[in-house]
This record gives sequence, C-alpha cells and structure tokens, in this order.
Amino acid sequence: MQFLNNLLDYFFYKSCYFCRRKAEYGLMCNECLEKIKSKVSGKTKYLEGIPIYGYFSYEGEIQKLIRAIKYHNKKELALPLAKILAGAIKFNDEFEIVPVPLHEQRQKHRKYNHAELIASHMGVSVNTNLIKRIKNTRAQYKLSQKERKENLAGAFRVFPGEYPGKKIVLLDDICTTGATMRELISELGKNGINDIAGVVMCFTRD
Ligand SMILES: [Zn+2]
Repeated sequence: MQFLNNLLDYFFYKSCYFCRRKAEYGLMCNECLEKIKSKVSGKTKYLEGIPIYGYFSYEGEIQKLIRAIKYHNKKELALPLAKILAGAIKFNDEFEIVPVPLHEQRQKHRKYNHAELIASHMGVSVNTNLIKRIKNTRAQYKLSQKERKENLAGAFRVFPGEYPGKKIVLLDDICTTGATMRELISELGKNGINDIAGVVMCFTRD
C-alpha cells in the first residue's frame, strides 16, 4: 500500500499553485514559501484603541494566496500561510485566536471559513464560540465607510460564557476601512471584554 501511495505521489504529486514545481506544503513549494515569508513587513494600526497588526502588503503572491483560499477553494494553502504567520507572531498560552466569523449561510456557500482554517493551523488555541455572526451582511467592497458601518451594525453576537479569560486575538484576512474590526471590538467591549488585539494578513489602505 505504501508503495502504491508513493507511486501515486510520483505521478500525481501536487504542484505549487504559484510556480507549478512540486509542492512541499499543501499546494506550495519551499521556494515560494520562502519568497512569501521574506515579504512579511509588519504594520500596526489602532482601531478604538486596540492594536491591529498587519503582516503583508496586499499585492503580488500574497494577494493571489488570499484569493485562492477565499474564493477558489484552495484550502490546502491555509497551511503555508498559517506557518508564515505563526513564525511572525509571538503567541503563547495567554492568547486565544478568534477568527472573524462568517454567517452560517455564507460559510455553507464557501464551504469553510478561511480565517478559521488558517487559525486552526497556527498551533494556538482557537475559539469559534465566543462570537457568532447573526446577520448575513452584504459584501463590503462596494460600500462606503459609512455604509459599511451601517451594514455591520448588530451583525455579531458575543457569548460571554465562552470567554476564556485570555487575551483575544481577532484574526481576519484583510482590513480595509476597519469597520468589521471596530464592530467586533465594540461588541466585545459591551460584554466587558477589552483585552484584545487584532491580526490581519494585510491592510489594503494606508
Ligand atoms: Zn512554487
């Protein structure tokens, strides 16, 4: 059986989503992984007094990587991305990652929550019960900052019984106007949860 698996691997190995060479990490080869890793820049923004850390510029391979996970069902690419992020962030036991939740209908449509998938490969505890998305909001990309805020009002519900008493790290892919992060921070604050930080792959605006 092992022989057969090796043989199948040989003929049907997964090729790198970026360069088509043999992939070592899910759908990414070591060279492309190193290339993306070298692009970690690091930038911090404050929203409602909470630091949000961004790791890449939204361009080139990283943009392609995020879109592939989010829209093209390439869930295998969450592993190398998580590896890169976990190497760039100093997490410890006092942290708990809360991936920004999708509404269950959207999650069903996309088949998975990409932020949750990435979080699950980071080797840190992940909490998907603390916050639920109770409103199926419209896509944000065409909306103005004011419309985004209205669109997101009341979108999330916090379940304080699920709060572990640790520092909450909100994880999302991209941060454009910050409307989603602000809404989450404010809802957590209403529930007395203020020990928060945010992590995003990219800020798309300066
Ligand atoms: Zn490659």
